Amino acid sequence: MPLIAQNHPLAPLDGAEAEMLARVQVLAQDHIGPKANAVSRDDAFAWDTFRLLASHGVIATAFPRELGGTEASMLLRVRMIEEVARVCSTAASLITGTDLSSRPIVAGASPELAAQTVPLLASGEKQSAFALTEPGAGSDLGRLCTVARRDAGGYRLHGVKKFITRASVADMFVVVASLADGPGGSKGLTAFLVPRDAAGLSVSPIIPKMGWHGVPIAEVYLDDVHVPASHRLGEEGQGMAIAQDTLVRARVGHAAIALGRMTGALQIAAQYAGHRQVSGKAIGEHQGIQWMLADMAARIEAARCLVYSAAQRYDRKDPETSIHASIAKMHSTDLCMRVVVDCAQLLGGNSYLNAYPIERFLRDAKMNQIGEGTSEVHKNLIGRHVMKTASAMPQHPCLDFEPDLFGGA
Ligand SMILES: Cc1cc2nc3c(=O)[nH]c(=O)nc-3n(C[C@H](O)[C@H](O)[C@H](O)COP(=O)(O)OP(=O)(O)OC[C@H]3O[C@@H](n4cnc5c(N)ncnc54)[C@H](O)[C@@H]3O)c2cc1C
Repeated sequence: MPLIAQNHPLAPLDGAEAEMLARVQVLAQDHIGPKANAVSRDDAFAWDTFRLLASHGVIATAFPRELGGTEASMLLRVRMIEEVARVCSTAASLITGTDLSSRPIVAGASPELAAQTVPLLASGEKQSAFALTEPGAGSDLGRLCTVARRDAGGYRLHGVKKFITRASVADMFVVVASLADGPGGSKGLTAFLVPRDAAGLSVSPIIPKMGWHGVPIAEVYLDDVHVPASHRLGEEGQGMAIAQDTLVRARVGHAAIALGRMTGALQIAAQYAGHRQVSGKAIGEHQGIQWMLADMAARIEAARCLVYSAAQRYDRKDPETSIHASIAKMHSTDLCMRVVVDCAQLLGGNSYLNAYPIERFLRDAKMNQIGEGTSEVHKNLIGRHVMKTASAMPQHPCLDFEPDLFGGA
């Protein structure tokens, strides 16, 4: 089983897609990988990496053709993300972050607003950021406090957004707020596109963080910001519906980043094990080390199948894509954390040094378990789905008990 395969039975690519993937493999191997450690030392936006990806058409793959993009299949996107994440989470998150920050504009902007903004995002000339989370509301969106009040010709937005990736460089923000006189909970949420220079919008300095350096986060303050009705994305109350496609894409993206990172970690660990001599032989000649590598390789391949099949479901518009995106995200990101910890153990003290990429992988791995719905949130979604599916099925044929023997009615 190769660590990375150009061809995978679950991920058939056509000629043009295979060429694009091969180009991205060269970028990762020759340009992004060698600079990844340096990029991760400074939490300033990684412009060089972003421009490299934009100039090779990778950013454009997230956008529709009629708006200046090349609209790649989700399958090709996860293959590209996996390749890049094998060496650099920052670069991979610049690809997935484009989905998060821009797809609500694609999904909800009027044709005029989309024509003004999306081609500039697809070319990489402009940046957008997605502002949903707040100091008091992450997993529980029912607690969002940012409010939109109807005003002559539009709305006035008031509130604070926290953890906003790209806020330091964004030219525009997708802001999700609840309508002051709309229904409560996520039903009342509405999305708006707010230009950075809108009066009353300000951004905090970059907030220092553990990893994912090169894609800084900041807070965004909305102090009575006027937004014209033409900048509402979708209908009133449709904010979460607009964001739904974005969140599914971003979840599959997180799963693909984790997949790539753990594949890279395994490669590093196996290559290290082949060289590192202890008591006269390479540590990789010990059965205990080989078993560690074998366990990791088998589990990673299972995660790869989940990620590719979630991507294929997305491309087929399968109605169960969302739950499979949750399964792939939870499984791949949790496994990645474990694999990176095991690879760190295998490298011994060297794993702890900044010169080796494993400490960077370790810091970055945590984020995939948190962003776009934590592992626990996805576990809740999957658990509820399992219960619902089971209750709609006929009783298991080997289960011939009467219901009251289960303690039920
Ligand atoms: C580096 C970084 C970048 C980010 N970028 C963005 C961005 O660009 N835009 C944006 O809007 N947001 C962004 N976020 C925010 C991110 O989406 C949230 O951090 C995430 O959704 C979790 O919310 P929270 O941090 O408020 O945690 P909480 O919701 O406070 O959760 C705390 C803990 O409780 C657990 N928990 C919550 N509910 C349940 C439950 N029902 N059952 C069991 N356990 C539960 C969680 O799993 C977690 O372990 C970013 C975050 C980080 C760290």
